[in-house]
Amino acid sequence: MNRRRRFAVIGGGITGLSAAYQLYKLALAAGEPIDCHLYEASDRLGGKILTYREQGLTLEAGPDSMLRRKPAGMGLIRDLGMESEVVDQSLAANKTYIVKEGNLIPMPKGTNMGIPVQFQPFFETNLLSPSAKARVFSDLILPRREETSDESLGGFLRRRFGDELVNSLCEPLLAGIYSGKIDDLSLAATFPQFGLLEQNHRSVILGLRRAASKSAGSVPETGRSAFITLRRGLASLTDRVAEVLAPEATFHLESPVSSISKHDRRYAFAGDASLDCLYDGVVVTTPSEPAAKLIQPFAPHWHWIHSIPAVSTATVILGFRSNQIDVQLDASGFVIPRSENRGITASTFVSSKWPHTTTEDYVLVRCYVGRSGQEQYLELSDEQMLQLVRDELQSLVGIQVPPVFSKITRWNDAMPQYHVGHLDRINTVETELKSNAPGLVLAGAPYHGVGIPDCIQQGQNAANEVWLTSHL
Ligand SMILES: Cc1cc2nc3c(=O)[nH]c(=O)nc-3n(C[C@H](O)[C@H](O)[C@H](O)COP(=O)(O)OP(=O)(O)OC[C@H]3O[C@@H](n4cnc5c(N)ncnc54)[C@H](O)[C@@H]3O)c2cc1C
Repeated sequence: MNRRRRFAVIGGGITGLSAAYQLYKLALAAGEPIDCHLYEASDRLGGKILTYREQGLTLEAGPDSMLRRKPAGMGLIRDLGMESEVVDQSLAANKTYIVKEGNLIPMPKGTNMGIPVQFQPFFETNLLSPSAKARVFSDLILPRREETSDESLGGFLRRRFGDELVNSLCEPLLAGIYSGKIDDLSLAATFPQFGLLEQNHRSVILGLRRAASKSAGSVPETGRSAFITLRRGLASLTDRVAEVLAPEATFHLESPVSSISKHDRRYAFAGDASLDCLYDGVVVTTPSEPAAKLIQPFAPHWHWIHSIPAVSTATVILGFRSNQIDVQLDASGFVIPRSENRGITASTFVSSKWPHTTTEDYVLVRCYVGRSGQEQYLELSDEQMLQLVRDELQSLVGIQVPPVFSKITRWNDAMPQYHVGHLDRINTVETELKSNAPGLVLAGAPYHGVGIPDCIQQGQNAANEVWLTSHL
């Protein structure tokens, strides 16, 4: 082929930026210059990653961290030469509270999503009744499930450990990731490792304990936390990708793509099929609703993408004068079970969890408002939402003083929900696209993982696929 290959990425969040960066790397490795265009509907890159840097503070309005163990995240950070900017979650705040009857009770140590790996701290906690603790350990003798079809995460956990553990511990911990209802979420799409533990070890607890003792034997204790961020905030990652790409790619901000048409083996947007606007490959990384409309002509089951539910939530950051705060925020924060019926769902003690984000003048606290089934709180005005959060912090933590500043960010339909059967539906649509529109690929939070490393991985995989397809 004599002409330069042309690629387009739709959506400028972490998935889209990772896809564009991967295309740039593939072109560099092949010694084959390409044209890469990234289309973003809003006036900024980064999508859900949104960091404010003000008065020496680093304020995360969206995600505040990522899992270290998922390789794509650290891989991208290394690739961009940003390893020295990685910050671990403070080990001093290596404790999380769960709210029970209006009190903050420490989460027992040695648990995995609420499931006991170490027994002693679990026996000692007063988060659960004695009968609930006994029910949890019936996992040790219960048979494995014979069926292999997907089931709900809640159904799986209730079957193995009983309702009280699920409602009091698992659900609030997991809600922090998906803001969803545990009984609707797909086990296979959210925590397939739990299903595998049951299949391989019969007992999930035994499986977790065997895995823990294996890794204790082979990996030296690093003292590193499971979560990391970047010194200047997570937006420094998306900013850096954009900076590296700037000489190589063309960014089209405030340029929503509304339709895709196919011309032989190439693609054009919104009816513009002139030769210099045809793309050899397109990666679609928008949220599911616009993505579904874009793939509609090529995937008979496009409506399965359209109907992926998404929950709205809001983050509320409060900054207090440190000399006015006389309560000890000695943990990473707290989570709240649904049964507590509170207006907020979780809170991060930012100054304790991420001390580098603040100065000695301020104490930062961040709260989440809204989750699946509790989205009515998002209809509150900013003033009402702030009052709600202040009331909750006063009653739960004892913070009486008003904040000196606050920042509310509303994330509408931002948390995709992977309901039971999700992976089969996605697989069907992906197969339809492969066959009807090779070189047109979906990637991002609605499909194979909402975490930042999952999104990076999906962006890279999608770029590899469109690259390969364009070389067939
Ligand atoms: C409040 C909150 C807290 C979170 N906390 C964490 C956390 O701590 N750790 C973690 O790992 N993950 C967290 N997540 C999840 C994670 O941030 C997201 O899953 C991830 O950033 C999504 O990236 P994305 O690129 O797939 O999508 P997005 O970031 O949504 O990017 C999609 C982009 O597409 C653009 N777009 C939409 N329509 C069009 C169109 N028609 N044409 C062109 N562009 C379009 C949008 O404007 C957007 O910029 C959190 C999410 C939220 C909302």
